[in-house]
Amino acid sequence: VRVIKSIYSLRRFIKTVKAKNKTIGFVPTMGSFHAGHASLMRKCRRENDILIVSIFVNPKQFGNGEDYQTYPREEKKDKYIAREEKVDIIFYPSVEEMYPKRYLTYIDTVKMSDVLCGQCRPGHFQGVTTVVGKLLNIITPDVFYLGRKDAQQAMILKKMVEDLNYSVKIKICPTVREEDGLAMSSRNNYLTFQQRKEAPVIYKALKQARQKAREGQYRPRNIAEGVRTNIEKNSSGRIEYVACVDANSLSPLKKIMGHCMIALAVIFGKVRLIDNIIFKL
Ligand code: AMP
Repeated sequence: VRVIKSIYSLRRFIKTVKAKNKTIGFVPTMGSFHAGHASLMRKCRRENDILIVSIFVNPKQFGNGEDYQTYPREEKKDKYIAREEKVDIIFYPSVEEMYPKRYLTYIDTVKMSDVLCGQCRPGHFQGVTTVVGKLLNIITPDVFYLGRKDAQQAMILKKMVEDLNYSVKIKICPTVREEDGLAMSSRNNYLTFQQRKEAPVIYKALKQARQKAREGQYRPRNIAEGVRTNIEKNSSGRIEYVACVDANSLSPLKKIMGHCMIALAVIFGKVRLIDNIIFKL
């Protein structure tokens, strides 16, 4: 694995790859790799000649008072995992090069970025679309890989690619979970022992909600309330939001039917965790 830090060097490398008609697969990340990231790399490795992973803790997607400063940065461990997954290039740009002084241009996928996590984190998705838009322009991959754990992010990026005519395929991969069901996340390490013990209640509550929906509970409000009560009764987690939405448009469901997603954010102390479950009825 080779680490490239400047846009200029990366572009030079990409030019040589394209001259040989090789395909490029890309996995954008904020680093601190776990098995979720590794699953994207593995799929990307299987399907492309060249595998590029970016590691960039993107300041523009963190709000005031969020964890930009304390977000885990683990360059050594990440390099080790990248080597294991046969990554060709880690692209490690600096904040200064990505956002020079007087940086003024943003990408905004309206409406879709105002609901769910967007409601609680104003400006977050604008930061995500802006940075991924830039990375796609720099790398010009044939295909890029995202995780379903961040379902809203994946849907917004899919829309951005469609609306802005990016010439890239997008693949959304299943959520990788710990044995007890907790969705893997770089933020899980910040849970206390007790919180970590409680956190699997999140996915349990989502599965129970799906079960209730399958058994005929069709009212989104009842389903959401069930999830909230389940989590808040059985853990110290505080629900930020729970919503039942259409899994394609993210618009709120009036009735649980069709392609449904139940998405939520739960706060344990200072740690904000998200998860979702998607099913068809
Ligand atoms: P992050 O570094 O957290 O920004 O995540 C980089 C990519 O990995 C995103 O596309 C995430 O959706 C994906 N990802 C993060 N956690 C998981 C997981 N548990 N399972 C699958 N993909 C994940």
